Amino acid sequence: MKLSKRAESLSPSSTLAITAKAAALKAEGHDVIGLGAGEPDFNTPSHIIEAAYEAMKAGHTKYTASGGLLQLKKNICEKLAKDQGLSYDPSEIIVSTGAKHSLYSLFQAVIDEGDEVIIPIPYWVSYPEQVKLAGGVPVYIEGKEENDFKFTADQLKGALTSKTKAIIINSPSNPTGSLYSRDELAEIGKVCLEHNILIVSDEIYEKLVYGGAEHVSIAQISEELKKQTVIVNGLSKSHAMTGWRIGFAAGDKKIIKAMTNLDSHSTSNPTTISQYAAIAAYDGPEDDVEMMRSAFEERLDKVYDKLVSIPGLSCVKPKGAFYLFPNAKDAAEMTGFHSVDDWVAALLEEEKVALVPGSGFGSPDNVRLSYATSLDSILEALGRIERFIARRT
Ligand code: PLP
Repeated sequence: MKLSKRAESLSPSSTLAITAKAAALKAEGHDVIGLGAGEPDFNTPSHIIEAAYEAMKAGHTKYTASGGLLQLKKNICEKLAKDQGLSYDPSEIIVSTGAKHSLYSLFQAVIDEGDEVIIPIPYWVSYPEQVKLAGGVPVYIEGKEENDFKFTADQLKGALTSKTKAIIINSPSNPTGSLYSRDELAEIGKVCLEHNILIVSDEIYEKLVYGGAEHVSIAQISEELKKQTVIVNGLSKSHAMTGWRIGFAAGDKKIIKAMTNLDSHSTSNPTTISQYAAIAAYDGPEDDVEMMRSAFEERLDKVYDKLVSIPGLSCVKPKGAFYLFPNAKDAAEMTGFHSVDDWVAALLEEEKVALVPGSGFGSPDNVRLSYATSLDSILEALGRIERFIARRT
């Protein structure tokens, strides 16, 4: 059977490819250290698990309204008011099967064939594919390493055409951990307002910021920017709930309604049990969220110092998320490889350390390393990387 052009045009996820290769080596009995993880290594806080269990016992095991339970939407409105100082009505909220699905439905709802979407490099792997699936055309602007991988308002201006429909901002960023300041967002926002560009603000790593840094949503800057923005967020990273599949989008009522219609024909509703768990997550204390954040921060500080001491690697210090995105071009050259992709493959083969090549994020000179794994494992992995480089130079 011939596959559709749509399916054939998709690039496989580089994150998943390396995870699969590492898993295969592990199954053969090798001592593999995987630094590819895109999820917290903590379990979901127990009060949330209890709430899911209670919900099931109480019979909440049926369909819900497409777009989510009203109570959960109200909780999300409260969260946005408390954390961002933003006022939304439940009709401006959709609960989805993860932030990934919020983004998917959003692009399906607003992109027409040939519409351009500005995607800053380095980007999260799913953005270009989701835009293409909606018939859109990704237009890339490069967040330069010397500017902490952040793009500027001038770069955005230079990429605009009559077909530009939207821009994606991901702060803190996967894979770089960089965080846009209020001033930077205000400048970018000004351009978006002048040219009527929809802002897709992916804030999934909002709670994971370090060194006293503050997360700012572009929607907080002005009422006009709030109207121009759809915020996407969820519980996966903040509450260690990746497997529960709960995310949300907040924005213009008309867009949210269109997304809800779309979801009613695809997922029907996000898992009912997970929605009850999410109500408990938003209602409950945030001690666990803070405990996980501070554990990540402690790891970051220890791991970063060790990483930058390794010859051939340089790294911008991240301000958020749980990834490091070092430049490994020199390391690859020093050790006789033509590309960082080849260097990553050899590192896995010879030292059994799995990193994610930056090429999948649009940055072929870099590699992504997640510190959402135990400190001992990361330090051991860095020791192996150091040994690999020393042996080959
Ligand atoms: N956005 C970014 C930047 C991510 O890194 C991820 C997960 O890796 C997501 C969105 C999706 O999160 P979820 O679908 O688990 O809510």
